[in-house]
Amino acid sequence: MNKPVSLTLLGESNKGVRIHDLIKAPANTPWAKERQQSWDADEPATVYYTPETTADGTPCSAVTVILRTKGCHWWWSSGCTFCGYFNDTRDDVTNENLHSQWQYAKQRFNDFEDHQMVKVYTSGSLFEDREIPVEFQETVLADCQRLGKELIVESRCEQMTEEKLAWATKINQNFAVAIGLEAYDDEVLRFHVNKGFTTKSWERAVVNMQKFNIRIKTYLMFKPPFMSEADALNHSVKWIEAVAEKSDEISVNPMNIQRGTIIDRLHRNNEYRPPWLWSLVEMIKRAHPSIHPDGGFNGDADQISRLIVHPTAGGKVRGAHNCGECDSHVVAAIERYAVSGDLREFGGLECQCQTIWATEISLEETLPTPLGISKSRRGNVLANLRSL
Ligand code: SF4
Ligand SMILES: [Zn+2]
Repeated sequence: MNKPVSLTLLGESNKGVRIHDLIKAPANTPWAKERQQSWDADEPATVYYTPETTADGTPCSAVTVILRTKGCHWWWSSGCTFCGYFNDTRDDVTNENLHSQWQYAKQRFNDFEDHQMVKVYTSGSLFEDREIPVEFQETVLADCQRLGKELIVESRCEQMTEEKLAWATKINQNFAVAIGLEAYDDEVLRFHVNKGFTTKSWERAVVNMQKFNIRIKTYLMFKPPFMSEADALNHSVKWIEAVAEKSDEISVNPMNIQRGTIIDRLHRNNEYRPPWLWSLVEMIKRAHPSIHPDGGFNGDADQISRLIVHPTAGGKVRGAHNCGECDSHVVAAIERYAVSGDLREFGGLECQCQTIWATEISLEETLPTPLGISKSRRGNVLANLRSL
């Protein structure tokens, strides 16, 4: 009989598997290659609109354009443990393709005439010249300036150099950059996320962005791999507090499982559970004083930053979820809080599963179980236990 294939851990005689190899493996599988080539390089991955609020807090509508790109340069050399963007990229996308995609998005929404905000996402960094031709960066900046739209782009820290920002702000004076910091903790960045930069590089990026008056949006990750639910909760409250003063907006992304990633393998192996929605509610309650020290709501004078939690795939097994009964109410309350900043959104939310969640958190805080004790919250308990 063949020995079961498992990761080489400490104490075994074989050489350990590097996290890098685990991250890269699925991207090189035939199914991933085939999927890449199936995309039409002249059409964006997706274009849609959602309700948003402008920088001054006015409710508005925002178009999100997710471009089909070559992906992220950090992914080419290594990659983050939860990033499934490689599923949506094509490594031969040209400047012309990108311009056609942009044209498609503008046409579809009539030069964004009914929308005040445009978010341009590239499965990487818009201002990274190796990923996105400078000419296309310029087109996006110039078009949004000409059309009078508030622009939001995503980037890693390395691209936020004085030189790049001086160039960009000459073309467009009304944009925000969202940086996926994920964790304000170098150990977590290195060993849980494999982020490839440190909190110091984020600090440097912030200083440069402040110099050029660019709005700063910080993404944090709730419950990266190899972390218990209780640790995720306690850490995330601290991280929010640490970045609040320097971020115009903090968006906490509860982990959702993307295909072919490390977190996907852990999840399928019963070694990882996406966060509880109750943990997100608890995190918001504890972090609220860092956002509103005087207990105010969004738009009040005491507001330091804006805290947004948007549970992607919320209520589903691959996203943050509870027992299945209460999920939609809890997700809705979390999303309402992002707009109002009012803790009363959580008033009256109750479910039997709250006790299980609270017990899990308290056990994880007292038992030496660094990876947590989370169990499946859906389906037949017996069948779940048998599959372990
Ligand atoms: S930096 Fe962003 S795009 Fe690049 S691998 Fe990490 S999560 Fe993915
Ligand atoms: Zn419930």
